[in-house]
Amino acid sequence: MQELEDRIRHDGIVKAGNVLKVDAFLNHQCDVELFDHMGAEWARLFEGVEINKILTIEASGIGMACIAARHFGGVPVVFAKKAQSINLDGEQYATTIYSFTKQKEYPVIVGKRFLSEGDKVLIIDDFLANGCALEGLIKICEAAGAEVAGIGIAVEKGFQGGGDKLRERGFRVESLARIADMDCDTGEITFA
Ligand code: 5GP
Repeated sequence: MQELEDRIRHDGIVKAGNVLKVDAFLNHQCDVELFDHMGAEWARLFEGVEINKILTIEASGIGMACIAARHFGGVPVVFAKKAQSINLDGEQYATTIYSFTKQKEYPVIVGKRFLSEGDKVLIIDDFLANGCALEGLIKICEAAGAEVAGIGIAVEKGFQGGGDKLRERGFRVESLARIADMDCDTGEITFA
């Protein structure tokens, strides 16, 4: 998606350790108009695919998933929580995932009443690196008997391999910007 690539080139900052900072428009300050265009693009890419729910993970996925939902007929958005809380009542699907950016394990929890057998789920997330976050969300869908109808990603760092592994397993992964390479010394970003 040209608009997203242009924005990454303009406002993205390449940090050491293969981290791309996009907090000016994606995951701290949010460009809602860009989110709207991203939602339209996912809807175009997944046209004809039956989807009745969007699943994402807190916190950065929520904004873009909610706006994308408007382009999928207003389907409900469920976001996995990363911590237990007294507000999380009832039975839950839970797993743990390793965070690329925080470099530690954390729980991923979804209330059983919000994900059911027969749901056709579009998973949306901001980044795809090694694929751990998506693995956790896929496990939760499997535990619920829900089908992963597709995976929509804003930025895939292709050189970290998570996307290819998921595609090899048969998942349909649509990334709006795919980074082939990035250099923290020069700040240069090469798109696939
Ligand atoms: P994975 O689990 O695929 O290795 O990493 C995906 C998760 O880590 C995303 O949900 C995102 O929050 C975070 N992440 C991975 N790489 C980056 C990055 O380069 N920049 C930012 N801002 N977050 C990232």
